Amino acid sequence: MAAAGSCYVIVGAGIFGVSTAYHLIRRYPEASVTLVDRDAFDADNRVAASWDWNKVMRADYDDPVYCELALEAQDVFTSDPLWKPFFHQTGLYWMCGRDYARGCVSNFERLGRHGDISVWPVEEARKLFGGLFDESDYTNVEQVLVNRASGWVAAGDCLQAVTRRVLGLGVKYVAEEVANLQFDPSGRCAGIETAQGRRLPASHVVLCTGASTPKLLEISAAASGLTNLQAGSRILAGGITTGMTRLDDDSYAKFADMPVGIQGYTTLKGNSACVPSQFLRVPPFMGSLPPTKDRELKWWGQKIFRNTKEVLPGRFISMPPAEADYAQWKISERLKEDIVNVSSVFYGNQAAKWKFEKHRICWDAFTTSSDFIISPHTASKGLYVATCGSFHGYKFFPVIGRYVVDMLEDTLPARLASKWAWDRERPDPSANPDWPSCEMKDLLDPVRDSRL
Ligand SMILES: Cc1cc2nc3c(=O)[nH]c(=O)nc-3n(C[C@H](O)[C@H](O)[C@H](O)COP(=O)(O)OP(=O)(O)OC[C@H]3O[C@@H](n4cnc5c(N)ncnc54)[C@H](O)[C@@H]3O)c2cc1C
Repeated sequence: MAAAGSCYVIVGAGIFGVSTAYHLIRRYPEASVTLVDRDAFDADNRVAASWDWNKVMRADYDDPVYCELALEAQDVFTSDPLWKPFFHQTGLYWMCGRDYARGCVSNFERLGRHGDISVWPVEEARKLFGGLFDESDYTNVEQVLVNRASGWVAAGDCLQAVTRRVLGLGVKYVAEEVANLQFDPSGRCAGIETAQGRRLPASHVVLCTGASTPKLLEISAAASGLTNLQAGSRILAGGITTGMTRLDDDSYAKFADMPVGIQGYTTLKGNSACVPSQFLRVPPFMGSLPPTKDRELKWWGQKIFRNTKEVLPGRFISMPPAEADYAQWKISERLKEDIVNVSSVFYGNQAAKWKFEKHRICWDAFTTSSDFIISPHTASKGLYVATCGSFHGYKFFPVIGRYVVDMLEDTLPARLASKWAWDRERPDPSANPDWPSCEMKDLLDPVRDSRL
């Protein structure tokens, strides 16, 4: 049970951590709340998935829970002066399968929010938005979902502004890496210890550590002997490449008012008459974001990968590269090629003349169902987990912390508590098109090891 006199340490200042701090300090202004992150919140270079040029804000989900939650977040983005400056309501153009479109529309209808959403046959959709998507590759696309209320958020700027606000409300910020969790003799989590040796005691430790969560839990399990702390198959760190091109004046004139473009959740690839169903795979979803204030158009790639390494002798998990910046700016030619391919999926020949000079690998925590984990950790009292954005978590920034605080207070509605539980039945990942399915080492440039 949370209380005004409690002492909260939130590890990780991405959207899960900052949103939790925001809602916690507003509910309990007298509570002690500390955010601990390896990076300063205003650093020029951060590893957080939440720290990005832009992210898609859409309520277009066939899952009713995320549709409703995203609408709640969208309402804050369109009305609250803290969040509003960062939201660009450009609309969204989603090339998808009939089932996905139907699922989204029925959610909006159920909630009485269908005014902005429409579904188009491909041939008619091609003419929308000045024919911007006329040259797209519509293989396996059955329909196009258009939502005029969706758009994108200037992600890093928004994260920094809201962090400043929570600091103004009394939350403390420690820019140090958490090396270990601390436990009392009964096995209760009692705080954290940083790599610099600083110890912060806490009544509640909340892990909002994104892709690094499995690593921190492995290390803490080994140090404490509480082996059940390990994430096991619950969480997988996965990486995706993003790439940007700066538009010249002519292209900018054409693309300045474009909507977010998405292609994904189309029909099954392959000929179902010839290929056994277990080998058919829906491709992951790809995206094209409208130009930023620096006139840069951004895509994320189709290759979603893991990075399996030995974290401790005999223990192999996927985790971001060991470099302090997760080696996020070191991009292989094969991953750059992924962005070129995606840009031509959206814009055909128009993309051929663009140069891609800016790339980043972004790491997030995935679950097989793409559900978040917002839950007490069952191996230790006082320890909580709130992360696993699974490649779609940013948009919930304004509201997700409220649900984390409800979880801390044990008042989360039952259907959410079970959906986001640490221990729950999880589907097989093969059914998830966005599951990190290849190893990063297989996507690196070949190393020449012979001098002959
Ligand atoms: C390429 C890409 C594109 C995406 N696009 C979208 C999109 O368009 N729309 C959308 O809604 N979502 C999108 N997402 C998903 C979204 O970005 C994430 O789900 C969300 O940002 C995750 O937030 P988080 O707080 O869990 O993790 P993060 O933002 O990664 O934050 C984790 C923080 O924990 C800190 N940390 C980790 N370990 C330690 C430690 N031991 N000690 C101290 N600090 C630590 C890190 O420094 C980091 O700041 C995308 C993700 C990727 C990768």
